[in-house]
Amino acid sequence: MFDNAPHRNCPACASGGAATLAAYSPEDWNVAACEACGFVYLRNPPDYEALKEESAWEKTYEAKKATSRGSTVFSPLARRIRNGLGMYRDKTRAFGRWFNNGHVLDIGCGWGQRIQPPMTPYGIELSTSLHKISDEVMRARGGYCLFGPGAEAIGEFDPEMFDGIVMFSYLEHETQVMDVLKGANRALKPTGAVFIRVPNFGSLNRRVIGPKWCGFRYPDHVNYFTLQSLRDVAGRAGFSVELINRVTLPIDDNISVLLRKSQPL
Ligand SMILES: [Zn+2]
Repeated sequence: MFDNAPHRNCPACASGGAATLAAYSPEDWNVAACEACGFVYLRNPPDYEALKEESAWEKTYEAKKATSRGSTVFSPLARRIRNGLGMYRDKTRAFGRWFNNGHVLDIGCGWGQRIQPPMTPYGIELSTSLHKISDEVMRARGGYCLFGPGAEAIGEFDPEMFDGIVMFSYLEHETQVMDVLKGANRALKPTGAVFIRVPNFGSLNRRVIGPKWCGFRYPDHVNYFTLQSLRDVAGRAGFSVELINRVTLPIDDNISVLLRKSQPL
C-alpha cells in the first residue's frame, strides 16, 4: 500500500545525501541520517492522503500499545523525577502561563481537549473523524479546527494571531518540518511561544534498546529528533529554544521545548 514512495531530501537542510541506518529500516522503510546536517528521518514516507485514513494515529497508537511493552526501561524513572520536581503536573496551567491564557493553536489536536478554558482553542487535524470532533469542541469554546496537513493549514490563520502554538506528539509525523515551523513563526505574536514535544532519538533508552525503542513507528514517525537537530530546525525558522525537561533529558524518551521568536521571517 505504501510501496515505491519517492525518497525525499532532508527536511531540515534540503540536502539529498543520506546514509541509511539499516538497523532502523525494517521492511521497505528507509530511515537515514543526512550527510550534511545529521538529521535522522524516514526518506520514503507515505503521502498525506494515505495518512488521512490508512494510518491515522489513533489507530496505530492502539496497535503500538500492544507491541511495545517493555521498551521504555528508563521512561518511568524519568517520569518519576519530573513529577517529583513538579514539572508538567498540570499541563493546562503551564500552557496558560506560557501563553497568557490567550488564543492557542494545537496542531495535530486529536480530540480537541488539550487546550482548556480560559484559553481559546484552535486546531489543525489531518484525520477526518478526529477533525469533526475537535471542530465541535473548539467552536463551543470560541475557536475552531481546520482540516488538513499542519504545514498547509497553518497558512490559513492570520499573521500574529496566536499567543501560543502547541505541537504535542505532532512534529515527528510532519514531512514538511520547515514549512510548519516557518508558518508558526508567522502565525505567532511577538510575545508568544511554541511548545513542542517529540520523541528523543538521543535518549539512553534508544541507544540501549535500539530497534525496539518505543519511539520507532513505521511509517507514521517520519522525523527522529535529538535536542541538537530540534535546535537546528527551530533556529532555521527564526526561533530560540528553551529546553523544558533539562534534568531528565538523557533518560527521557521525549524532548520538550519552548520556542520563542528570535527573528521574524
Ligand atoms: Zn540535513
